[in-house]
Amino acid sequence: MRKVLVMGEVRDGSLRNVSFEAVAAAKTIAEGGEVVGLLVGEGIAPLAQSLITYGADRVITIEDAKLKAYTSDGYAQAVLAAVEAEQPGGIVFGHTALGKDLSPKLAAKLDAGLVSDVTALEVVGGNVVFTRPIYSGKAFEKKIITEGIVFATIRPNNIQPLAQDLSRTGEVTSLSVDIKDLRTIIKEVVRKAAEGVDLSEAKVVIAGGRGVKSAEGFKPLQELANVLGAAVGASRGACDAEYCDYSLQIGQTGKVVTPDLYIACGISGAIQHLAGMSNSKVIVAINKDPEANIFKVADYGIVGDLFEVVPLLTEEFKKLKV
Ligand code: FAD
Repeated sequence: MRKVLVMGEVRDGSLRNVSFEAVAAAKTIAEGGEVVGLLVGEGIAPLAQSLITYGADRVITIEDAKLKAYTSDGYAQAVLAAVEAEQPGGIVFGHTALGKDLSPKLAAKLDAGLVSDVTALEVVGGNVVFTRPIYSGKAFEKKIITEGIVFATIRPNNIQPLAQDLSRTGEVTSLSVDIKDLRTIIKEVVRKAAEGVDLSEAKVVIAGGRGVKSAEGFKPLQELANVLGAAVGASRGACDAEYCDYSLQIGQTGKVVTPDLYIACGISGAIQHLAGMSNSKVIVAINKDPEANIFKVADYGIVGDLFEVVPLLTEEFKKLKV
C-alpha cells in the first residue's frame, strides 16, 4: 500500500482529461493506499472537487499569483513542497508538455526512478509493472521501479478514468509555499487561435497529408471532423508544404495521439508519422495508392481519392446523426 500524489493539470480554467486518467493510474499504484490530488496555480481550488469525484481521496491546492502561468522553476518548488509535506510513495503526472518538462527535474531532485510515457500498468507480485512504447512505438517494454518513489507519467487517452461518482467527498486543504527566485517570469501568454477539439486528447482524429494538396484541401477534413466532433491533425508533409500549421503535426517530431478512431487521408505512412499514431485503437486509411505503407497499420483501408471519399463519409455520418 502506498500514498500516491497525482498532479491535476489545469488548462483554460478546467482540468484536462488526463488528470482523471492519472487518478485512475494512481489508484492502481496506491494498491489500496491513499490517492492525494495536487493542484497548482491561481484560482484553482474550485476544481479540487472534480478530482475527488474521479477517485482522489483528498486534494491539496497550492495557490500563488507567481504560479498563474507554468514555469518549471515555480511549479517544481510547489510540487517539491507537497512531496515534502506528504512523503508519498508514488507520484503520477500526465505525459503532457508540463509533465515532460517537470517530471525529470523532480525525479532528479528526489533521486527517484521515473517511468515516462506509460500506456498501461498493472500490479504483479507487489510490483507496479509499467508498459511504455520504445523505438517510436515499434515495440513495448515493461518496467518496474525497484526502490524509492514510484514516479510515472502517463500518455493521454490510454488509461481509462474511473467512472465519476458525484457523491464522493474528500478534504481539500491549501498548502502555502513561499515561491522564490524564479529565473523565468511569464509576462503574457499569446495563444495561436486554435479551433475545435484538443488534438492530444481527442477521441477521433482526422489527419491530412500531402495528398490534400493545399490549405483549401483541408476543408473536407474539417467538415468531417465537425460532424464527428473530431480534431484535425496532419503529417509533417502537409505542414512542410504549408497546408496547415505545425501545431497539427503528428509523429515522431510532432504530437503523439492515441484516439479511438484515426482517419488518415492522403498520408503515405512514413515511419516517423506512424510513431505518433500507430497506437490508435482503430485506424482508417484513405489513399489513392494501394501500396501505401499506411495500409500496413490500418484496420480499414479505402483505396480512393480522398476528395471523393471524405465528403461521402461526411454525408453518411450526418445521416447517422439525424
Ligand atoms: P507523402 O509521403 O508525400 O504522401 C502523400 C500520400 O498522399 C501518398 O501516399 C499519395 O498516394 C497520397 N495521395 C495523393 N493524392 C491523394 C488523393 N487525392 N487521395 C488520396 N490519397 C492521395 N512526418 C510526420 O508525419 N510526422 C513527424 O513527426 C515526422 N518527423 C520526422 C522526423 C525526421 C527526423 C524526419 C527525417 C522525417 C520526419 N517526418 C515526419 C517526415 C516523414 O518522413 C514523411 O516525409 C512525411 O510523413 C510524409 O508526409 P505525407 O505522408 O503527408 O506525404
